[in-house]
Amino acid sequence: MGAPESLLAAIDAELARCAPFTGIKALSAPVRAALAAVPREAFVPAAERKRAYVDRALPIGHRQTISQPFMVALMTELLELGPADRVLEVGTGSGYQAAILARLAGQVFSVELIPELARGARAALDALGIANVAIRVGDGAEGWLDHAPYDAVIVTAGAPALPVALTRQLAPGGRLVAPLGRAHDHQTLTLVAKSADGSLIETALLPVAFVPLRSHPPPKT
Ligand code: SAH
Repeated sequence: MGAPESLLAAIDAELARCAPFTGIKALSAPVRAALAAVPREAFVPAAERKRAYVDRALPIGHRQTISQPFMVALMTELLELGPADRVLEVGTGSGYQAAILARLAGQVFSVELIPELARGARAALDALGIANVAIRVGDGAEGWLDHAPYDAVIVTAGAPALPVALTRQLAPGGRLVAPLGRAHDHQTLTLVAKSADGSLIETALLPVAFVPLRSHPPPKT
């Protein structure tokens, strides 16, 4: 079992509060079902397990975090996934966001810079029998060209500007969501829609705070 009613209610409250900025008023039935099905506790370190169903980001080691459930829900809603969609995720982290995407889309391709996190995410997904997530260790700013184009792209680390490879690998009609901004405390959750003719329409939605998109793994501590 995944998110209990208490956490789903907290997410709904936060979605309602932010709706004037995001246009998302409440959880849709499919995203709600995905959150209710995926056990977040399987993606957090043992020491954090008692907080797994609180609406907060939590440390997952290597100075990285598993995103706040509200943010996972919001970004997932914004992608408007269909069952046959192919999704690119930049920043696998714990694998939790990928597991949610995997219930709503056909295939998820996720890129993680830190090998240990990629291994941990793989193990957690395998333990739950989630078979439609592929993980690659590398710099997600380059996307994952082999499987492009993607119907949806989700970036779970903040960058000053959107890496051009990611919009190139987005299919016409596709949607991309990413935290963009110069510093940790000046990021804006941004939705980018690619029209049928390939032009990009960018909408700034909400102030957010994500760990930075890096080009090299951080030094070990
Ligand atoms: N989606 C994750 C949240 C992870 S936090 C989850 O559900 O748990 C962001 C992740 O992005 C971190 O694991 C970090 O190591 C990773 N990251 C940072 N820069 C990256 C890059 N250039 N390419 C791929 N992953 C990156």
